[in-house]
Amino acid sequence: MTSVPNCRFCATPLTVTLCDLGAMPLANDYRLPDEKSPERSFPLHARVCPSCFLVQVDDSVPPDAIFSDYAYFSSYSDSWVAHARRYAEAMVARFGLGPQSLVVEIASNDGYLLQHFKAAGIPVLGVEPAANVAETARAKGIETEVAFFGVETARRLAAGGKRADLMAANNVLAHVPDIRDFVGGFAVLLKPEGVVTFEFPHVLNLIEKVQFDTIYHEHFSYLSLVTVEKVFAAVGLEAIDVEELPTHGGSLRLFAAPAGSGRVPSPRLGALRAKEHAAGLDTLAGYEGFAAKVAEVKRGFLAFLAEAKAAGRKIAAYGAAAKGNTFLNFCGATPDDIVAVFDRSLAKQGRLLPGSGIPILPPESIPDVAPDYLVILPWNIAEEVMAQARELMAPEARFVVAVPQIKIMP
Ligand SMILES: [Zn+2]
Repeated sequence: MTSVPNCRFCATPLTVTLCDLGAMPLANDYRLPDEKSPERSFPLHARVCPSCFLVQVDDSVPPDAIFSDYAYFSSYSDSWVAHARRYAEAMVARFGLGPQSLVVEIASNDGYLLQHFKAAGIPVLGVEPAANVAETARAKGIETEVAFFGVETARRLAAGGKRADLMAANNVLAHVPDIRDFVGGFAVLLKPEGVVTFEFPHVLNLIEKVQFDTIYHEHFSYLSLVTVEKVFAAVGLEAIDVEELPTHGGSLRLFAAPAGSGRVPSPRLGALRAKEHAAGLDTLAGYEGFAAKVAEVKRGFLAFLAEAKAAGRKIAAYGAAAKGNTFLNFCGATPDDIVAVFDRSLAKQGRLLPGSGIPILPPESIPDVAPDYLVILPWNIAEEVMAQARELMAPEARFVVAVPQIKIMP
């Protein structure tokens, strides 16, 4: 069979591979040690659209097998809560929001963000697909609509008199299968003078820092300004500003308004367009050679494992998250290579990582396991992990980060 899928935004045949990671289990399918049901795996193939340059993974997973991201989103870290509070303060000040305004968040979870607007006396509405999560928000007094967002939901809300001054979509754009319909909903629900902000990992970092471990089945799209502006143009939005954020290994916060808003675009937009153009993200050339770099990361990690094991060293890892699962399964790691992975999540402790079958233990077990090397899988929080785990490790033990290349640290 030679047919290829079509672009999830512009329907162009996806003839260009970014990287093919092979058959992979679902990244959040944590297993019990005595689980009898066979583990399912699905192709994980990232492609780039030759027309709109949307980087995307194939729809290879039946919808009933896809996990919602709610387990991740409901466990906010302290730094994420602080990020939400700073966002609310900045938006209230910048757009002069008050009791006459309406703030709508899409994928509003338990109200972690909207609570800050509500506390400032600004009316809010959350839209959240998971009913149990929406209930948590309602218990806090955050009005929440249980729905998947798109043009139809937006029309229904607008018909009910809801029009937004500010809309927020944080870390959800990359996770929606139908990006055109999803973004189209904002054009419907915003007031003509309203503004929406989207936060998403910037594909420039995926390419330049070889962050292939951020690729997993439920992460459908990997986004650039050049592509998102094409989506905006198709649905009647226009970019007005952009900020580069350090979250998730490098994210964008993109501000948009209904087309023809008359708002003066920030010079930061032009600067970022130039940066993406310099990196070649608006041509196929910018995406060439990525698969070879990914193979090189794998070779480097396998060489490290082989050398450490030959020297009789014990290797463990830290962080049982999606990122680590893509990485370990692509490298073919087993419990024979990595004896355990430590994680603070009580829901994951006692389970096994999908695919690799490596047992998940609480960080308090680090002294008992006594690894010579601790591989930090979530490289974006490496410093935080090192600060927490150092006192649990032997003085001569070392930390390791494997992406974009092996780095061994005291
Ligand atoms: Zn396309």
